[in-house]
Amino acid sequence: MLESQSPSHGFQDRNPSESPTASAVPMLEVRPGLYLGGAAAVAEPDHLREAGITAILTVDSEEPGFKAGAGVEGLRSLFVPALDKPETDLLSHLDRCVAFIGQARTEGRAVLVHCHAGVSRSVAIVTAFVMKNDKLSFEEAYENLQTIKPEAKMNEGFEWQLKLYQAMGYEVDTSSAIYKQYRLQKVTEKYPELQSLPQELFAVDPTTVSQGLKDEVLYKCRKCRRSLFRSSSILGHSEGSGPLAFAHKRMAPSFMLATGTQCTSYFIEPVQWMESALLGVMDGQLLCPKCSAKLGSFNWYGEQCSCGRWITPAFQIHKNRVDEKKMLPVLGSQTRKI
Ligand SMILES: [Zn+2]
Ligand SMILES: [Zn+2]
Repeated sequence: MLESQSPSHGFQDRNPSESPTASAVPMLEVRPGLYLGGAAAVAEPDHLREAGITAILTVDSEEPGFKAGAGVEGLRSLFVPALDKPETDLLSHLDRCVAFIGQARTEGRAVLVHCHAGVSRSVAIVTAFVMKNDKLSFEEAYENLQTIKPEAKMNEGFEWQLKLYQAMGYEVDTSSAIYKQYRLQKVTEKYPELQSLPQELFAVDPTTVSQGLKDEVLYKCRKCRRSLFRSSSILGHSEGSGPLAFAHKRMAPSFMLATGTQCTSYFIEPVQWMESALLGVMDGQLLCPKCSAKLGSFNWYGEQCSCGRWITPAFQIHKNRVDEKKMLPVLGSQTRKI
């Protein structure tokens, strides 16, 4: 049952006759006081009472019909709206889910995490909790849960998100390059239909703020000296290694070739001055907003760095078109406009 046969969700493939007890058991205790289940687990308040459950985390497309507190005294609940699809953003909710479970357990409550089928979404949330709580890698935590609940099979988008969660140190750091790259990837998945780009995607134009953070470097147009971006906007990648952004699309092997060539470009998050150039097209040039010198290019489908690594989407600035300038922490309030 653990062989991967089809990319679709496990619960659709499962032959009911193979696991006759799965539907009879509405929930499973995967750690002391931590239960995993499907919609049936909350359908009967008796089940909750028997297990002593007083905290329920629902991760589903619709809020369950159970009335908070009905039949269970002091019930605490958290609802996270999410579809069981690879493109669903679960990562952004992981911190509060893990905190909810952790707090309930600290208070001595038994917790139920459930989705609709108890196979993908709830398994992803519980895996994240086990990873952080037991200091396990994604693979270790997931395999451990599958030994307890063999039909557990999260979709590959969630697998990828949990690997990013691990790479961020079991805490979602929205200022990290990993998260910024992830957020860009999420936008790319919906990109052609988007009417406008979310503003939080763009780094503030460095010409509108004079204050720099300690140790930050400012990058300016080599030709006209216009400030273009800060070092905090650079989305670093390891040279020539497999593309993290493609990991869930099984495209890694053909790009794993390490060429040993150095990166000749910076890949950065979009900066406000790029906005008008980006919308409505899949790729194009990035020009200096002041002197129109060619700085690089962008492509929502991705571009390959000179080192061999693919970055998706890509906002690429050639290193030889910009100059670095160390930013001095400014004490005054002067705003320099160029
Ligand atoms: Zn590179
Ligand atoms: Zn310029």
